[in-house]
Amino acid sequence: MKISFKSIRWRIQLWHGLLLLLVLAAFGIRSYYLARENRFSVIDQDLRHQSILVLVAMPDSPARRDIETALRAAFIGVPLHGLQQALRLSQNSSELHKFPASVPLRHLLETEVQTLSKTGVYYTMWNTNGAILFHSDNAPGLIPKPQATGKPGFHSRTRGELREEFISTARGFELLVGRPIRDDLASLHRVAIHMVMAGCIIMALGLAGGWWLSRRAVSSIKDISNTAEKIASGNFTERINISCTDNELGGLAKVLNTSFDRLQAALDRQSQFTADASHELRTPLSVMLAKTNAALARERTPAEYRSALESCRNATRRMSQLAESLLTLARLDSGEEVGKREPCQLELVAREAVELLRPLAEANGIKVNTEFEDAACLGDTEQLGQVVTNLVSNAIQYNRLGGEVWVKVKSERQTTFLIVSDTGQGISAENLPHIFERFYRADKSRSSADGHVGLGLAIAKAIIEAHGGTIHVSSEFGCGSTFTIHLVSA
Ligand code: ADP
Repeated sequence: MKISFKSIRWRIQLWHGLLLLLVLAAFGIRSYYLARENRFSVIDQDLRHQSILVLVAMPDSPARRDIETALRAAFIGVPLHGLQQALRLSQNSSELHKFPASVPLRHLLETEVQTLSKTGVYYTMWNTNGAILFHSDNAPGLIPKPQATGKPGFHSRTRGELREEFISTARGFELLVGRPIRDDLASLHRVAIHMVMAGCIIMALGLAGGWWLSRRAVSSIKDISNTAEKIASGNFTERINISCTDNELGGLAKVLNTSFDRLQAALDRQSQFTADASHELRTPLSVMLAKTNAALARERTPAEYRSALESCRNATRRMSQLAESLLTLARLDSGEEVGKREPCQLELVAREAVELLRPLAEANGIKVNTEFEDAACLGDTEQLGQVVTNLVSNAIQYNRLGGEVWVKVKSERQTTFLIVSDTGQGISAENLPHIFERFYRADKSRSSADGHVGLGLAIAKAIIEAHGGTIHVSSEFGCGSTFTIHLVSA
């Protein structure tokens, strides 16, 4: 498999991985610092409570009273008089509560302070000159005296693997209580390692999930491009297999399939059109070839030559008409034959066309009725004349002997109407949807020798649509047909 890092799938994966990493890192770092803060706050709280114990164990002195005042201020709302209160605050008080009240307090305190030493808690007190007043036996040597902040309450500091809480009085006494935090730091280290491991697992799962999701998303795109490739290489029957239509790609596949269907239909129509056109041209060509071959086969009389030449002329005329029609359609299709857009009196155009066709109607014993109102529209007089001629000649051609034709032109609001109806044979429901198709003839048995090759209505429709109008037909088989054209009034 060729891997392209520029592919959408890789890009999605890369962004997804990057975002996941950022989120996990931010979440992990924040969680670690919260755990650390939490742990330190518990240690600090514990050290503050131990400081009360140290205070109560001190012999009475000005320094003790000074520290007690500072502690009172730090523990607002917590009364410090009485050992019981102090012990209640101490974390190690649970054992001492068991002692009977009659046991001397000093002994209790000594026991308690010894317990403190065992847990590693140490304390040191400085006087106003910075000299150490007293310190616990386990206090590390050379504890730097904390810089007095002047602010009331406890202050904390971390020195290597030691955590210390100190309180300074207004007169300059300072009490520091501390303890080693090696175990706490090791435990935090373990938390960090667990977090990194959990983060790696989540990252791996997230990446695998993202890879699977992007593969699913991209597989539809691949299907679409594979199908499009096959279609481009000439396999026009190929379609995209749409398994899921309710997402964006399903919708795209549906639209593409519809477009391919239309393209296929257009290609089919195109090849049908070419076949029909060739067929229509071949017929007069065959007539010409047969007539000239027959004339040249042996010596002919002038009348026979004349007859052969007349047949050739008729065939040439038909070919010329057909070529003209095809050219008109090709120009209309390409938008080349847009024609003029000038004010045109449609009733005059219709009148001229009707008068031209009246002899044909009379020859067929058909009465042509007209009803013309003043109706101006925008268009090309010559092209619109061709449309009226096509419709009226069809109304005469497909009429019954002694039938009638009505040609009506009127204007209503912004629309100009041309209505051509007849009492002819009508068009069956089966043929009705196809009569505007090129080379379509409802009656296949009719020969095209009379010039009706099935292009008249297709040309009329193309001209009317090029004019921004519409053409409709309604028909009852055996009773007659009505063609209605709507055009925009001038
Ligand atoms: P054609 O050159 O054959 O007349 P058209 O495109 O003008 O071609 O018409 C297509 C087909 O529609 C005709 O062959 C005919 O079957 C049918 N048709 C058109 N006009 C009428 C009409 N007024 N009455 C009945 N059938 C009609």
